Amino acid sequence: MIPEASATLGRATDCGDAAPRGKVCLVGAGPGDPDLLTLRALRLMQQADVVLHDHLVSEAVLALVRADAERIYVGKRERNHALSQEEINALLVRLAGEGKRVLRLKGGDPFMFGRGGEEAEALAEHDIPFEVVPGVTSAAGASSRAGIPLTHRDYAQSCVFVTGHRREGGAQMDWPALARARQTLVIYMGLGMLPEISRRLIAHGRGADTPAAIVERATTAAQRVVAGTLATLPDLAKACGARPPALVIVGEVVALRERLCPARPDALPVRPHRDAPECAADPLTTDR
Ligand code: SAH
Repeated sequence: MIPEASATLGRATDCGDAAPRGKVCLVGAGPGDPDLLTLRALRLMQQADVVLHDHLVSEAVLALVRADAERIYVGKRERNHALSQEEINALLVRLAGEGKRVLRLKGGDPFMFGRGGEEAEALAEHDIPFEVVPGVTSAAGASSRAGIPLTHRDYAQSCVFVTGHRREGGAQMDWPALARARQTLVIYMGLGMLPEISRRLIAHGRGADTPAAIVERATTAAQRVVAGTLATLPDLAKACGARPPALVIVGEVVALRERLCPARPDALPVRPHRDAPECAADPLTTDR
């Protein structure tokens, strides 16, 4: 994909559409697989003077950044923030003020639970020119690579994206709305709250046997899917040692994975994961 993309990029750049100096580009890096970058993202990555990235941006994507661009790791794993959000905002403003072409690379889409909105607000406040480049959000990456359509005429007429992170707003969840039938629920940052999510959704009327899955490290070589039901998923997650970054997907569409998983689950080598034989026993729990 890269050589063809470069040809296209070359033409686009010739049209004078290069990144101007003193501007910040908030760019979606997608969920991990570099083939899911937009051409705009790739072009800006190849022009940037300085790149600010965090742990959600995969090594494979970072490898496509201009080799002599300065790279700044700004965090943020939980409780291990390299820089606070305020420091990141201030750094973006300062670097753009120095006349640099600044690229802020964010996992997935910048405006989907990525605090891209806060960074854009800070830039607007300081009159720094900026551009937002959409990325493939992890829900889209996970659904296509795990064989889980997020909507389907027969099973789900709506899809809700929600954060399960308490400080990101997960503490104020509208449980009756989230428990609605014929709806797919995609929970970002939901692993920590999974037992409560399962309990509350069931208490608000969603069937305990509703299919549910965790998609870990979607679209990367390490993608793993743990599938069960709303009732069983919290224990399965624990048994399998599920870890972030991961999405929780709840809804009847999850069952379609049996037929739609791009690589048939039964054709995949299923190996015990982190000493958890329960995971190996579930044909839909696969290491890929
Ligand atoms: N802006 C990002 C989301 C940032 S919030 C996006 O559009 O995807 C961080 C959360 O996103 C993670 O805790 C996880 O729930 C989810 N996430 C990001 N990348 C992921 C991946 N490759 N696989 C599964 N979940 C991912």
